[in-house]
Parts: sequence; structure tokens; C-alpha cells
Amino acid sequence: MSNDSRLLLASIHDVSPRFESEVDRLLELVAPYVGGRIAMLVVPNHWGVAPILPGSPFATRLRAWADSGMEIFLHGFFHRDRSDHGGARDRFRARYMTAGEGEFLGLPREAAVRRIADGSSLLEDVIGRRIDGFVAPAWLYGEGALAALVECEIPIAERHASVWSPATGAQLARGPVITWASRTRLRLASSLAAAATLRHMPMKVLRVGVHPPDSGHPALVRSIRKTFAIAASSRRAARYSDLFAAT
Ligand SMILES: [Zn+2]
Repeated sequence: MSNDSRLLLASIHDVSPRFESEVDRLLELVAPYVGGRIAMLVVPNHWGVAPILPGSPFATRLRAWADSGMEIFLHGFFHRDRSDHGGARDRFRARYMTAGEGEFLGLPREAAVRRIADGSSLLEDVIGRRIDGFVAPAWLYGEGALAALVECEIPIAERHASVWSPATGAQLARGPVITWASRTRLRLASSLAAAATLRHMPMKVLRVGVHPPDSGHPALVRSIRKTFAIAASSRRAARYSDLFAAT
């Protein structure tokens, strides 16, 4: 029986023409548990080699997902870290925590504003409505990115440990997101262990985020399926925008 006061938020990261078949497999994996309540984290031009072109078949699919009620989040622009990081700590985080994909960690405010504005207008042209929010690649935000989100009045953004509204300043949810990693065997094993623990935790909002490479690892697919089955048995699948009513 589901307890309506506790929520389950699902997201698919790195939605891009580059990963179209992986995204399809993730949708098949997740939709049985949450229906269309899935946040699609879309990369406008992954690594500069996979642009989303208005009028293309992928753009048509993106619009259909939005029309069906899925939330569309801007997820970086290139998803690649192309700036030089100032501090040693930022260098460490960008290099070791993200395999060099912290695109918004070292960006100055103006560059971040431009990239968020360009990405938003591209996606909004395609889907015919406002985007629902922004999630930085690898959840890594520098000071410039945080200021840019406020300036662009982005309604919802998330970190690994929280969800907030840059537009209003409201805190919307706390607690870690369950996610899987497959780059090394150690990270794969530790992400399986973390998921097995976190999916039983009683936090009010449980977020689960999946990535394209997850779909190619049978152990991860099993863990993802089990995590959603357990979470959906005691939680109501919701949209990120539902958090405004829930807080
Ligand atoms: Zn990503």
C-alpha cells in the first residue's frame, strides 16, 4: 500500500540523440513503476557531437515526451568540462568525482548564464513550453553557475543532496539521490551497496537517477528494478514540480 505523504522522484540523465537506444531501455525499465512521472535530463549537444536539431526525429520524440507529461530539465549544454578550475579543491572534484564532466563547476557567471539561456531556448523551441528546471552535469555547481540559475529564474535545480528553487530560494527536498556508477568495478560495487541501503531509508522524498550506461550492466539493471519496486511499494511517484505543493 502506498503512503501518499512520501514521494518517489525518477530521472533519466544524459538524454541525447547519442544515447537514444539506452534511454529507450531506461524508459522501459522505469516506467512500469512510475508511469510518465519521469524527469528527462536533456543535454543539448553532448560533447559537441550530438546536437539536438529542431525538426529532427529526436526533437519530435522530446516534444512527445513533454506532451505526455514528462518533465524536461536542461542538463548542462555539452556535459563536458571545458573550463579551467580555479581552486585546488575544485580541480580535485572535477577530476576525481566526475571523470572531467563537471561542465558548470568552473564557469564564470556570464558564461553560465549564456549557456543556460542558449540551452533553455533550444529545448523550449523544441517542446513548445518552459523547461521544468536545470541539473548540472555530475550535480557540480560553481559559484558562477549558482548565480546564473537565480538570474535565469530557473524554477527547480538539484544537487546530489538536495532540491531547491533558484527562482524563489525555497528548499524543496533533502537527502541523497540513489544513482549507479559503472566506470570501475569498485564504483559499480559500491553503488549497488548504496542503493540497497538507501532504498529503505525513510526520507520524505526519495530521488532515483539512472544513466545511459546503466542499461548495459545486468547487475545494475537488477538493482534499479529492485530499487523502484521497493520504493514504489511505499511511496507515491511524483514530479519534481509536485515538491512545491509538498513543502
Ligand atoms: Zn549527466
